Amino acid sequence: MAAAESDREPPSALCSEFLDFSAKDTGLKWLQASDLPKAVYQHLARYVPKIYCLGPNLNPQNEDLLAQLLLQGPLEWYLCGEDPSIGLAKLEQSNQPSQLCGHVFKVGEPTYSCRECAADPTCVLCMQCFLGSVHKGHRYRMTTSGGGGFCDCGDTEAWKKGPYCQKHEPSISDSSQEDPLDQLSANMITRTYSVFSIVLRYAVDMLTWEEENELPAGLEPPERGDTYYCMLFNDEVHTYEQVIYTLQKAVNCTQKEAVSFATTVDRDGRKSVRYGDFHFCEQAKTVIVRNTSRQTKPLRVQVMHSSVVAHQCFALKALAWLGQVIGHSDALRRILCQVGLEKGPLGENSLVDTLMLCDSKMWKGARNVYHQLLMSSLLMDPKYKKLFAIQFAKNYWRLQTDFMEDDHERVVSVTSLSVQLFTVPTMARMLMTEENLMATIIRTFVEHLRHRDLQGRFQFERYTPQQAFKFRRVQSLLGDLKYVLISRPTEWTDKLREKFLEGFETFLELLKCMQGMDPVVRQVGQHIEMEPEWEAAFTLQMKLTHIISMMQEWCASDEKVLIEAYRMCLVALTHCHGGFADGEQPITLSMCGHSVDTFRYCVSQEKVIIHLPVSRLLAGLHVLLSKTEVAYRFPERLPLSELSPPMLIEHPLRCLVLCAQVHAGMWRRNGFSLVNQIYYYHNVKCRVEMFDKDLVMLQAGSSMMDPNHFLMIVLSRFELYHIFSSADGRKRHSRENANKDVIQQNNTLIEEMLHLIMMIVGERFTPGIGQVQPSDEIKREIIHQLCIRPMAHSELAKALPENENKETGMERVIDSVALFKKPGVTGRGLYELRPECAKQFNLYFYHYSRADQSKAEEAQRKLRRQSGEDSALPPPLLPPFCPLFASLVNLLQCDVLLGMLGVVLQWAVEPSGGHWSESMLQRVLHLIGMALLEEQQQLESSSEDDITFSFTLKISRPGEAPSNTPSILALLETLQNAAHLEVHKDMIRWILKTVASIKTMRERSSTSPVTDSGGQNHQETVRDKDKAERKRKAEMARLRREKIMAQMSAMQRHFIDENKELFQQSLEELDASTSASLEHSPSSPDAALLCVGPRRTRPTEKRQVVTCILCQEEQEIRGDGRAMVLAAFVQRSTVMSRNRHRPPPNPERHDPLFMHPDLSFGTHTGSCGHIMHSHCWQRYFEAVQAKEQRRQQRLRVHTSYDVENGEFLCPLCECLSNTVIPLLPLPKGSGSTEQPGLGLWLKTVSQQIKSLHSAHRKLRPVDAGAVDATSNMEDFPPPEGFKPDYVPVNPFSSTVKEMLTTFGTATYKIGLKVHPNEQDPRVPIMCWGSCAYTIQSIERLLVDEEKPLFGSLPCRQDDCLRSLTRFSAACWTTASLPSVQGHFIRLLAALLPDPEVESSPSLLDVDIFHLLVSMVMSYPSLHIQDSSGLSVDAAQQNLFQLVTVAHVVQVLLTSTPAEVTMDQESGGGHSEEEQSISALYSCLRRHLGGALRDVGSAWHLWRCVKAGVLPFLRAGALFFHHLNGVPTPSELHARGSGQWEYLCGYLGLPSNLLQLYHSNQDLLDPLIQGWCSHSSIQGLLQGSSPLVSYPRESNRLIDLPDDYSALINQASTFTCPKSGGDKSRAPTLCLVCGAMLCSQSYCCQTDLEGEDVGACTAHTFACGAGVGIFLRVRESQVLFLAGKTKGCFYTPPYLDDYGETDQGLRRGNPLHLCQERYRKIQKLWRQHSITEEIGHAQEANQSLVGIDWQHL
Ligand SMILES: [Zn+2]
Ligand SMILES: [Zn+2]
Ligand SMILES: [Zn+2]
Ligand SMILES: [Zn+2]
Ligand SMILES: [Zn+2]
Ligand SMILES: [Zn+2]
Ligand SMILES: [Zn+2]
Repeated sequence: MAAAESDREPPSALCSEFLDFSAKDTGLKWLQASDLPKAVYQHLARYVPKIYCLGPNLNPQNEDLLAQLLLQGPLEWYLCGEDPSIGLAKLEQSNQPSQLCGHVFKVGEPTYSCRECAADPTCVLCMQCFLGSVHKGHRYRMTTSGGGGFCDCGDTEAWKKGPYCQKHEPSISDSSQEDPLDQLSANMITRTYSVFSIVLRYAVDMLTWEEENELPAGLEPPERGDTYYCMLFNDEVHTYEQVIYTLQKAVNCTQKEAVSFATTVDRDGRKSVRYGDFHFCEQAKTVIVRNTSRQTKPLRVQVMHSSVVAHQCFALKALAWLGQVIGHSDALRRILCQVGLEKGPLGENSLVDTLMLCDSKMWKGARNVYHQLLMSSLLMDPKYKKLFAIQFAKNYWRLQTDFMEDDHERVVSVTSLSVQLFTVPTMARMLMTEENLMATIIRTFVEHLRHRDLQGRFQFERYTPQQAFKFRRVQSLLGDLKYVLISRPTEWTDKLREKFLEGFETFLELLKCMQGMDPVVRQVGQHIEMEPEWEAAFTLQMKLTHIISMMQEWCASDEKVLIEAYRMCLVALTHCHGGFADGEQPITLSMCGHSVDTFRYCVSQEKVIIHLPVSRLLAGLHVLLSKTEVAYRFPERLPLSELSPPMLIEHPLRCLVLCAQVHAGMWRRNGFSLVNQIYYYHNVKCRVEMFDKDLVMLQAGSSMMDPNHFLMIVLSRFELYHIFSSADGRKRHSRENANKDVIQQNNTLIEEMLHLIMMIVGERFTPGIGQVQPSDEIKREIIHQLCIRPMAHSELAKALPENENKETGMERVIDSVALFKKPGVTGRGLYELRPECAKQFNLYFYHYSRADQSKAEEAQRKLRRQSGEDSALPPPLLPPFCPLFASLVNLLQCDVLLGMLGVVLQWAVEPSGGHWSESMLQRVLHLIGMALLEEQQQLESSSEDDITFSFTLKISRPGEAPSNTPSILALLETLQNAAHLEVHKDMIRWILKTVASIKTMRERSSTSPVTDSGGQNHQETVRDKDKAERKRKAEMARLRREKIMAQMSAMQRHFIDENKELFQQSLEELDASTSASLEHSPSSPDAALLCVGPRRTRPTEKRQVVTCILCQEEQEIRGDGRAMVLAAFVQRSTVMSRNRHRPPPNPERHDPLFMHPDLSFGTHTGSCGHIMHSHCWQRYFEAVQAKEQRRQQRLRVHTSYDVENGEFLCPLCECLSNTVIPLLPLPKGSGSTEQPGLGLWLKTVSQQIKSLHSAHRKLRPVDAGAVDATSNMEDFPPPEGFKPDYVPVNPFSSTVKEMLTTFGTATYKIGLKVHPNEQDPRVPIMCWGSCAYTIQSIERLLVDEEKPLFGSLPCRQDDCLRSLTRFSAACWTTASLPSVQGHFIRLLAALLPDPEVESSPSLLDVDIFHLLVSMVMSYPSLHIQDSSGLSVDAAQQNLFQLVTVAHVVQVLLTSTPAEVTMDQESGGGHSEEEQSISALYSCLRRHLGGALRDVGSAWHLWRCVKAGVLPFLRAGALFFHHLNGVPTPSELHARGSGQWEYLCGYLGLPSNLLQLYHSNQDLLDPLIQGWCSHSSIQGLLQGSSPLVSYPRESNRLIDLPDDYSALINQASTFTCPKSGGDKSRAPTLCLVCGAMLCSQSYCCQTDLEGEDVGACTAHTFACGAGVGIFLRVRESQVLFLAGKTKGCFYTPPYLDDYGETDQGLRRGNPLHLCQERYRKIQKLWRQHSITEEIGHAQEANQSLVGIDWQHL
């Protein structure tokens, strides 16, 4: 950055002036000044424009430095009257810090709230305070801050318990009562006062200054140039893209600069985009305004004089300075507060008022700075916080009105401070009584929603965008209202009562505007043309739901208030529906000997109202009256006589009938808007203040009415009266017309009506209606949810209503009704219902949807059958009603109901084609059951005289003349034997049994109880018990049998699931697998198995036949036959990289022949193992291509795979693939076992190479330079049997050759990221590399997964390795022979010096396994021209042994010497291995001198070598096993000791590897010397670049903290690396390397191969070769990326205590790391399955395909 600074030195003339400046002198001069304000202003006028705004770019560092020296310095001197560094320190020392933490939250910082102790959810702690608080052990909630707001630690009102953390615990000498000003001298106070007044006034003046060209008096600059800024302001209307585009046009900047401007404008609210003379700036302004004024209002632009901008910049600085100075002392803070709130001499607004009232005119940056200052000053001082709150409340209307017009988000509006003021309970109460805050808020709200209909109700239909915008903003007022109400008063004063009731009255006015809004009328004939607007009304309802509940709770806490509120509410309701029966036609209904007067009204024909908030509020208050028992103690004070029950029930009843008719399909033509409204009416978000309260109102109304009258009105509103009222209602079918639809409708309506009656009588779990506790209500909700199925915590929470504190109350009761089952590696933890709670199940629970109901019914019946009970689901026992509702039970035994029950039963007895339904009957039976239980309970609990319930008697009575119908009981007995009612038999039997038992109870109570009858009873029960016991045992036995059977079949299924691959494979590759099983029983015993060398075990030759998955034909695998291929996926990989800083290789020039030992970039090949004919595959792929082309023409959507890059999905398993591997037969082994040893072999090969050199030279075109070279080099005659001119015949058929080229080219193209070129000599190298890399990665995986080397891989991986190895061995045949020979020559030269090969890498610069594979694979190119009898096997063995020795040397050179403190040489005897290792090590030290440290312990060296070489040997064994098809020894199929010996045996190595060296010492010593003397070895050993040591450690994903909030905290301190200390919006952690990135943001987009990509995608290319695994910290979400277009989200490894993840951090439960799940992600990564996982995710969820992953 130093270079950038030197660009803009301040002019040197100023420099000297600044250098001479003394802050002290100026400060002291001010102390003498008579007119201090003038002196300070003069100073500012002189210096500010010289420091700030001197050119087009700002230079914050310089400006800060100068401002500190020239401006703040003198102020601090004056303030302290001495050196400020001393003065301020003194102040700080004597300060008694406040107990408030007050830490202001940054965006994204974690905040904590205690669910148990916080006064409301807005009370939060910062991380530090939280960790030091008692709440750490409570149930807490964690969220990320949206910025703004501060830590409430130390605020006693915010916490019910534990208000202080350890740090903020008040000391014993509590000083909070003292005035902090006492600590300051009077002089100091005066000085501070004057300085603060001047500075604050200056800042306020400048920030609210609106002139562009002038300055306030006293600040005019001494000299004034023609220097202007063109200032662009932020708005929320224009998009980033619009602004960027416009700027590029207007000020001629690059895209990059434009992005930077736009980012700053968005962050700070304004930014100068041009600097120059006035016209230059004006020009830019014109262009911007013109360009942005077309669609919307133009962007705001001002041309401002540089001195104005300079002073505004300093004004911000000055405010920041004030905030910093008051941090030193509470006394200073208090003075500043006083200055800020002081009114002018003529009663003008205080400075703080001025700021607030200009808030909406200021730009974002200025607002933020002064809001910060308010928070650190006024809000931190208890005394002034109150005064400020009063001012805030006084200005409330103005501030909110300004906010409505302002287009900035609320977080940058001063109105958002309300949360800091209103949530303090004492403050809220004070503002309510003193400033009438409650009424003010509501009035402001109502006033801003002006659009009304003729009756004064809100009307949201045809809102303009402007009004819609305003509607969204005005909702924040309801948030304020909620704050005010959130804590209920414990004590009431008369003043509070008065003001609350005034507020309540205004609230009723608001509700009156809602009562009756958006009425609906049934559409008949045509479907409605336009869906009417409904969402706004429901939005309002939802926002008000908690407030309405809170209002009720306030009322409930004081009797006087409750009674008065009830009265007011009733008046309001009467006012709403005053003349509701006007004009309606009166009618009289009569039935069963009862009659009632009402009027004609049809829901299906007239207007129906869904929004009834006034009536519902009254219902709520009515319940409270009942609950608090006010109704019984002061009935005279209640307006009960004014209640008109028919009026109360009318509208709620209509609303419920509407729902029933919608269910019955009568409102289909009204479209989705009505369906949605009905949905929300019942939804958990609204139902508490909608559906539930309507039901309460019906309960309240009917409890005050004759039940017969009530039911007749209900029948009439359901439009069913005519069916039940006629004398022969029981013969319905004869009376009704035969229209099937109408019958169907009426059936549904009858069902719904019966359900409604059940609810009215049965729903008594609200305290006040029934005699229950609040916890009973929530328990019942949970029980009924869990009766549907076991549920996760979050699912349950979602199904329960939350209160205003976002609590469901579930935690208090859940354990008493449910058992928790922990999750596995997938899935989540579940709650299951405790079995004993199942008897509380009510099939007709009022919050069940129809779907819930049938699911619950099925689940419960199944449960009862399983436990051997009959499957009847009788109603549960109910708690008794409260007295006010007690008469409701009479509904069950009233004549009209009995009449209706009889009618339905009669229909069921004479079934006649669809005139009744089973659910209708089921409901009737349920109602009868309820009545019986009611009677039984009354018999049990009341004394004889109190028994009023005589249901059993009534149902035994037959109908009277003239109809003479059978009794209900008789009908039931008939039905018991009806064949068509099998399902309901259990229930009917239960009813009859209960009737019988009630009869005995009645008889017994009428005759006084006799003792011996009791004895008889006892005997009977004993006998019953015996019988029951036997039955139970038989049942248990049956169940056990069933369980065992089920378990067995489950196990079988499980086994097949687990081994799916195995089963599939075994079908497809029957032959292959039999040959595989033969591998374990070879002709020779296991001990002799040898996989490499002339004596290696020869596998029995076997035909291999496979089946094509596409055409199902069988095919033998032959080199000269039709080619078979394996679907494969090749990808670049950095999974094994030991050096993530190595830049990716240059694709065009990179020479991949030698892999560096850090394995930084490799090529991995994987396969799903599915086999096809090559021509079947080609046809398939062409079809995919054609389909894709057609699709692209039609619509521009991506697929989950990229056809243009050769990608396709495996036709069988849909696994992502991008090429195919040809299957090849085992190469034929060659004859003789007598072969030359290493020395002789090397000699022969060297000779062959020499002759090749000369042969290749001949091939090369002769040019001038080459003549010289050939002249000194004699033609070397080829050794015996070697024919360099021999051109071999390709052994493969054309299709096999074609496939060899296909796979080779694909590997080359992907591995190097180049265009395909099958002629490139690097093609075979890349294939060998991929083979080596894949084997190495599998070897690592086996170690990491703690699996044995052989026998544990899934078939598909074995198949893949086998084909890959055999392919690599054959791929040279498609390349040019000389180039492959050239590769071999260069490879060998790395170990064996060859004067003709230039610049071989040093031994420490090659990965030895890659070297082995490449040499073995390229050797056949020499061998093919050799007929001397040397075998490939001999070559393999010799190369392998040579490479092994080289690797031992590598390990020795790089082993890190361990401290030899312990005496490991146990027994003292040096083993053979140790002696030889010592010898070799000293030999190396001789060659290298001091570069190699002396390691005393040979034991240690041997240990190092063994451990270091092991991975290589294991990889070697895998390699030769697949290459030569040699079976594997069974010892290597298990893990355990002795592996080393078996491994060496299988590889034909001595278990003392050093013997390789000693038996060929003469030959090897010169080679070793050559390796050690390589020019770069010394440097490497001295650390010129990081050395890789062996064994290479496996890479792991980074360690994550256990507590998720630690990550959030880490991310909150992370700033965007590109936009100068700005917070990043989407901080994202790379799980591979731990880098934190600024994702999903313009600022960090970079150019990657010509495309703009986000930070994650860019990082992916460097860190993961295109594949990335990230954690999005704010979202708690894992992100997988592959390439630029693919990605998916994956479940994060963090779980809450309920075993659930929290993607998006919505629930805020504390999250902890689940190691198992993290390991699962790590495994996906290590086995290269990330891309595959993305493919599967995208196939399963097409919406993932459309996301612009590259912008993340
Ligand atoms: Zn704190
Ligand atoms: Zn604290
Ligand atoms: Zn707590
Ligand atoms: Zn086929
Ligand atoms: Zn497949
Ligand atoms: Zn990374
Ligand atoms: Zn950024």
